[in-house]
Amino acid sequence: MSTFPPTVFAVKRFAVLGLGRNGLPAVQALAACGAHVQAWDDGEAGRQGLTKALAHMPPEQAARVTCAPLEDMAGFDALVLSPGIPHHLPRVHPVAALAIAAGVPILSDAELLYCAVRAAGSKARFAGITGTNGKSTTTTLLAHILEQAGVPVAAGGNLGPAALALPLLPDNGVYVLEMSSYMLERLDTLHFDAACLLNLTPDHLDRHAGMAGYALAKQRVFAGQTAHDIAVIGIDDAECTRIAGHLAQSATPCITVSGTNPAASYYGQNGAVWHNNAALATLPPALPGAHNAQNAAAALAMARFLGIADTVAAQAIASFPGLPHRQKLVETCNNIAFIDDSKATNADASSRALGCYDRLVWIAGGIAKEGGIESLSPYFGRITHAFLIGRDAAELAATLTRHNVPHTVVETLEKAVPQAYSLAQQTHTPVILLSPACASFDQYAGFEARGQHFQALAHAVRTQQMSTTGQ
Ligand code: ADP
Repeated sequence: MSTFPPTVFAVKRFAVLGLGRNGLPAVQALAACGAHVQAWDDGEAGRQGLTKALAHMPPEQAARVTCAPLEDMAGFDALVLSPGIPHHLPRVHPVAALAIAAGVPILSDAELLYCAVRAAGSKARFAGITGTNGKSTTTTLLAHILEQAGVPVAAGGNLGPAALALPLLPDNGVYVLEMSSYMLERLDTLHFDAACLLNLTPDHLDRHAGMAGYALAKQRVFAGQTAHDIAVIGIDDAECTRIAGHLAQSATPCITVSGTNPAASYYGQNGAVWHNNAALATLPPALPGAHNAQNAAAALAMARFLGIADTVAAQAIASFPGLPHRQKLVETCNNIAFIDDSKATNADASSRALGCYDRLVWIAGGIAKEGGIESLSPYFGRITHAFLIGRDAAELAATLTRHNVPHTVVETLEKAVPQAYSLAQQTHTPVILLSPACASFDQYAGFEARGQHFQALAHAVRTQQMSTTGQ
């Protein structure tokens, strides 16, 4: 792995708007590739971040960066917008409007990574993964398989690191990119050798003119593919099944994947991923549930296409450690497992975790999404007791009351975790699950901070238990 030569974008001029997790590395990488960059952030903090970053850059690169409002877009080769800044819906940002009027393309950092890789002369391949849920797991799992197989690999994109923060890979390398719908809308020449659309359920509809617009954006993961590439698609929801029908008509080989359905080319069954009536890989505890079987089936299909032997892929899947905050076992105390599923910020995501345990104590709450937790009622019979936290605890409590689920509103995780442990002991319930079905921003900076707090509190419970019982 190496860095990009400064000749790659030597005569280019880029505008970068938004200097956060994506924008700042974009400025640094573009300047390192020889481009001139005009960068701006409407917020003071973003601009200060750039000033600090410039101080640490080689002087000849920092000299190619100016920090100034983007008032005239003429002469730029492209505008790089942070994923959070809309270029059409719900309202076009004024700088994006200027770019559109001036005929300047709005590109994602993934597109610019692709241009830089090709300009540097590397034939490294690209895998792109999208979907409403499971992107990060599938991206990380595929990267893990490639790494274990000794393939030079760089993974990033939506889950971080930003695409333009990735190193230059040699010809036999593979970039594995998690692609959000916003990134997909801003592609031009990048096409994926292996592209995957896992699933589609309503999300971010305000930015995509409803479900049809959202599905169209997601389908762009397959744009530009040829007969030499593969299109991998989940068939566990109606929308993707419909798209799979269209893909089957195209020249690109289409591979279907499913968490449960043997009609798919790769599918999950009895704790393994199957293909052609053979179990190819056993799923480890870090990949529980049919949803993760779908993720593993997709990763396996792409790994095979990328030349990885089934036995190597199977071994890698078995050793996959899982991602933090996605049904992660963080502590065990007196045979009671503490599971951190803080990433489940909506009811659909929580339903996956609730479906994995027959009896559990549930910790949920925060800022509820539209529809609340009513859709989780099929799982309520598994819950011995629920502890509710956060702003919308009362709303969740009302739903649980209607369904006769025992629960307590405790407001904070500090109270929830020790009380959940006492209750699990009394009722011999083997699992305490934090799967909030709610956003975290009322009490935490994000789902990561919420999950870390849960883990710390679970450790404290265990330490306390050990000091009192010597266990
Ligand atoms: P993303 O990056 O798309 O948000 P993650 O891999 O981080 O997805 O998983 C987030 C949550 O989504 C998981 O905790 C789980 O509840 C749910 N999930 C994961 N994979 C799938 C899938 N294939 N289908 C449906 N839900 C899934």
